[in-house]
Amino acid sequence: MHGVLAYCRAGFESECAQELGGHDRALACGGFARTRAGSAFVEFILADADTANRFDAAVRWRDLVFARQRLQLAARIDGLPERDRLGVLMPAIRAVGGPWCDAWIEAPDNDAARELAALCRSLNHALIAALKRERLIESTSSRRLHVCLVDARTAFVGSTRIDDAAPWPGGIPRLRFPSSAPSRSTLKLEEAFLTLLDAGERERWLRPGLHAVDLGAAPGGWTWQLVRRGLHVTAVDNGPMDAALLAGGLVTHLREDGFRYRPTQPVEWMVCDMVEQPRKVAQRMAEWLVGGWCRQAIFNLKLPMKKRHEEVMLCRRLVEQAVAASGRRLDWRARQLYHDREEITVFARCIAT
Ligand code: SAM
Repeated sequence: MHGVLAYCRAGFESECAQELGGHDRALACGGFARTRAGSAFVEFILADADTANRFDAAVRWRDLVFARQRLQLAARIDGLPERDRLGVLMPAIRAVGGPWCDAWIEAPDNDAARELAALCRSLNHALIAALKRERLIESTSSRRLHVCLVDARTAFVGSTRIDDAAPWPGGIPRLRFPSSAPSRSTLKLEEAFLTLLDAGERERWLRPGLHAVDLGAAPGGWTWQLVRRGLHVTAVDNGPMDAALLAGGLVTHLREDGFRYRPTQPVEWMVCDMVEQPRKVAQRMAEWLVGGWCRQAIFNLKLPMKKRHEEVMLCRRLVEQAVAASGRRLDWRARQLYHDREEITVFARCIAT
C-alpha cells in the first residue's frame, strides 16, 4: 500500500483531503483521497513507491494546515484477531524495514476510536518489546514506526521522519490547563508557541522585557501566556480583563476597537483572537505586518463557513500579496491546533527578500 495517512480533527476530513489533493495536483502524482466524515483521518492513496516517496519528500507535514500528523503508509491490515493482534501485525511491520527510533500505536481522535486507548497502550508495550528483541529499535534512527488502530480489527502501518512530524502520539500535545489562567483559550496560544515556533525562536522572540499587543484579549488567556514569559502586554478589548492579571503590573488594558487600534511604537508581537470574518482579520493582520507595527503575529481565523479550505487559501493569498507588494516575503505557518475548534491558528512575519 502506498500513500499517506493524515490525522485531523473529526469533521475536518474533507478539508484535510482537499489540502492533500491540492499538493497532489501540483506534483501531478495522480493520487486520491478516501475519507469518512467524523473518522478523524484521511487515507491518501498513491500508485507506487516512487510516487509515494516523491509526494512524501515534497509535502512537508509542517506545511499542512489540517493534518495533525502525516504518516507515510506501508500497509493496511484487516481482520486482526482478538487473541494475537501482534502476531498478525509483525510480518507487515518487518516488511516495512526499520530500524525505528520508537514505535507508537495510536487511534484516530474520534468518539469510537477513543475507546481503543487501553488496547493501544497494552499493544504498544508488547510491540516495543518485540521490536527490541528483533533489534528493530535504534535510538539514532530518523524514522518512527506508527500503527494506527482504526478499530479493534483494522490497522494501518506507516512511519514518519521525526524531523518533519508531530512529536506527540496522535499529533496531540497534552497540555495542562494552568489554574491561574483566565480562560481555556490560553492552551491555544501555548500550543501555537510549541507547534508553530522552534525552540530557538521561542527563546529569541519570547523574552522578558519585549512588548506585545493582544487584540480581543478578554478575559486574558492569551495575555496570560505572554505575561508568564515576562512580556509587557497591551490588551485591547471592550470586555473586562482578569483582575489578577491586571494586578501583575505587566498589562495595560485599553477598551478600544481592535480593528482600529495601532501601537505608537513597533512591538515584537501582535496576537489576535477576535471573532470576526477571516478575511477581515487577514486584512488587518496584513496591515500590521506590512506597516511594521509588529515583528511577528499569531492570529486565529474562525471558520464557521462551508468552504473552509478555500477560505484559508484566500486569506493566505491576501496577506501574501500585501507583503509581496511591500517588497518582502511572507513566512506563514498555519495549523488547526488540537485546542482549535472551528478555526485555525496562524503565525506570520515578513522576511526581507
Ligand atoms: N483570547 C482570549 C482569551 O484567551 O481569554 C479570548 C478572546 S474571545 C474568543 C474574543 C474577544 O474578542 C472577546 O473578548 C471580544 O470582546 C473581543 N472582540 C471582538 N471584536 C473586537 C473588536 N472589534 N475590538 C476589540 N475586541 C474585540
